[in-house]
Amino acid sequence: MSRGMAQARHQAPKGTFDVLPDQERARALIFDHGAEILDAAGYGRIETPVFEDTALFERGVGESTDIVRKEMFTFEDQGGRSLTLRPEGTAPICRAYVEHGMHKLVQPVRLWYWGPYFRYERPQEGRYREFNQIGAEAVGTDSPQADAELIVLLDELLRGLGIDDAELRLSSLGQPEARVAYRERLRDYLREHESELSDDVRSRLDTNPLRAFDADHEGTRAVMAEAPTMLDSLDEADAEHLASVRRMLDDAGVPYRLDGTLVRGLDYYTRTVFEFTCDRLGSQSGLGGGGRYDGLIEQLGGPPTPGVGWAAGIERILLAMREAPPNRIPDAFVISADGDTERAFHVALALRRARLATRTDLAGRSFKNQMKQADRCGAGFAVILEEGGTVQLRDMGSGEQREVAEADLAEEIAAGA
Ligand code: AMP
Repeated sequence: MSRGMAQARHQAPKGTFDVLPDQERARALIFDHGAEILDAAGYGRIETPVFEDTALFERGVGESTDIVRKEMFTFEDQGGRSLTLRPEGTAPICRAYVEHGMHKLVQPVRLWYWGPYFRYERPQEGRYREFNQIGAEAVGTDSPQADAELIVLLDELLRGLGIDDAELRLSSLGQPEARVAYRERLRDYLREHESELSDDVRSRLDTNPLRAFDADHEGTRAVMAEAPTMLDSLDEADAEHLASVRRMLDDAGVPYRLDGTLVRGLDYYTRTVFEFTCDRLGSQSGLGGGGRYDGLIEQLGGPPTPGVGWAAGIERILLAMREAPPNRIPDAFVISADGDTERAFHVALALRRARLATRTDLAGRSFKNQMKQADRCGAGFAVILEEGGTVQLRDMGSGEQREVAEADLAEEIAAGA
């Protein structure tokens, strides 16, 4: 390659990646498994635009969150509108719920989604600027049964993919009224320890003191280990809601750890919050999580409507999966012994139309090299097209080979596959 060409080479933008065909298989497996269990539980798939009005996330996710303060990909379009590549899926779904009058449907409306999300974060393994999520929401119910149903579904999704060592942490943030009093209590406590806190936490003491629970700063962490938690401050109704969720998780045999320091990075949560973590992910331990957002839809201009949901990161799930799914093994490899490519095309076509996974050589390889290819890709059978029109069917496992009529090929292969 000339110097000039090397200089012109492009790379995927920082924090993004290409998904190559051999990596796509595992993603498709997650999609199929997710679709199957969510569909069976009555969740319908929804797709929303990849970008939305910036104000949706400012109002929905919250002005004081990391996401809105520093992680959004925001741009102005040619018409002067401020748009943002979606950093999360719940606010857009609530927007769609209101926009399409879904409150008139039978409640709750169960939805699931899959797609790319964007956050300007410092990239590292398992943390990207464009990443993918699978998520589910039950909108229009405040029943603890919905919380438990969703948590069990995420647990099932992970276990079905071979991730059986994720830890589930569970907490409740209560309802806004109870949280106001708790916030004051936490703020007072943090003020007493102000000198030990990080600058970032100190600057958000007034707007978002709960975020102090998420800090990496050592001094802050020491202070937070002793801090009062919302869990200890729940009112009776919130405490009973949480107790009911816990009883149903117990009934489902889903283990969890109650953890009052779990706050999550979005402002809209009320009552239940949860997160699945896995220590095989390195510093990025969050596989997926979510919670209840009973005030969000009203905040976005809709009728008062409770809801609950979760999102899980596809790239994190891939890191946590122990085994990659096997490549699809072809049923047959069609080999031309005499170089008649049109006949090879014709036979391969007939096998594919019979729904057999079929490969064939496209590079004019010698007979020997075609046999090598058939062996390497693990094909069950080699279909050898001989000069004069006869066909040999070779079982690649046993090495047994016999002549077969071309018209019987598909049936023979299907029977042996
Ligand atoms: P969150 O909306 O922050 O609760 O994120 C839900 C899930 O999405 C997390 O548990 C991660 O699995 C995944 N996730 C969030 N941010 C990123 C990122 N920058 N890169 C990869 N995955 C992410």
